[in-house]
Amino acid sequence: MNQFRFSRRPDIGDRISVSFEFFPPKTDKMEARLWETTKRLEPLQPSFVSVTYGAGGSTRERTARTVERILKETDLVPAAHLTCVDASRDEVDEVIGEFVAMGVRRFVALRGDPADGVGAAYQPHPQGYANGAELAGALSRQGVPDISVSAYPEKHPESPDFATDIDMLKRKVDNGATRAITQFFFDNDDYERYVERARRAGIYMPIVPGILPVHNFTQVANFAGRCGAHVPDWLAERFDGLDNDPQTHELVAAAVAAEQVLDLVERGVTDFHFYTMNRASLVFAICHMIGIRAETEEADAETPAAA
Ligand code: FAD
Repeated sequence: MNQFRFSRRPDIGDRISVSFEFFPPKTDKMEARLWETTKRLEPLQPSFVSVTYGAGGSTRERTARTVERILKETDLVPAAHLTCVDASRDEVDEVIGEFVAMGVRRFVALRGDPADGVGAAYQPHPQGYANGAELAGALSRQGVPDISVSAYPEKHPESPDFATDIDMLKRKVDNGATRAITQFFFDNDDYERYVERARRAGIYMPIVPGILPVHNFTQVANFAGRCGAHVPDWLAERFDGLDNDPQTHELVAAAVAAEQVLDLVERGVTDFHFYTMNRASLVFAICHMIGIRAETEEADAETPAAA
């Protein structure tokens, strides 16, 4: 069954588009790794690559530097994440202006987590944008044409129910959002149900699944617990006993992510956003399986074998 499914990926690749998410590096060593990753993934021609932004502007300079380098040194289209925690509207507008002046036309608008960490009560800045919807509005007013926002297939932990969650997504669309990117999830039924809920509420923008290859199961499980994403027992079972076996861990992670992505492809999904964690290998392998190939690879494949 799997062989049959895998063998037809290259045809499907023509109608699939991918985007990659990076975080701004903190040290020279991390910076070198990010550029290695960028160079490895660039030939896959993602529709854009996004760079995260620390809540409270904690990565303002680093995010700007990373985005600027992408613009100057690659053919990639960058999208700057922006948060509005602990910042006045004027401060956020200034940051938007700086990115626009740099040539950035795509943004990912987020509220950000409370200054006291995930789970603490959120207090908007008294003169600030209160949430992702208001930030999307600010970007739209500055003429930004491409505004991504967040979506939560298992609902945001602060949403009391799905209706509230979808209402927030609707407010984002009304304020100019053009695409939603989801929090990572491991149960594709959750994603599908969420998209159905959004469509029923009259939300027709793309809701792109955010895929997190499990580079480190323990870290992912901890993080998932904090941001309200469910880690199914079957997933824990697959990584059980692999803490000290990075090679097998990576092979299992590739298989798990490929399975998830291929199943979404079967369900008709054509756009994917990968949380790369600034690492190329797993994302590159998964893209290969869904027919997203570097140009040179395709050219090689078309060259008949020498007689
Ligand atoms: P919102 O969608 O604005 O709000 C989340 C929920 O809070 C709403 O669904 C609603 O239940 C409630 N809420 C908000 N405002 C109101 C209101 N006025 N009245 C009633 N209820 C309200 N974090 C970073 O710090 N930097 C990043 O770069 C970053 N990138 C991300 C990228 C993606 C694709 C995703 C999914 C998340 C990202 N995050 C990032 C995490 C994000 O900041 C957190 O999940 C944060 O807790 C919520 O931000 P948001 O924009 O989704 O919030």
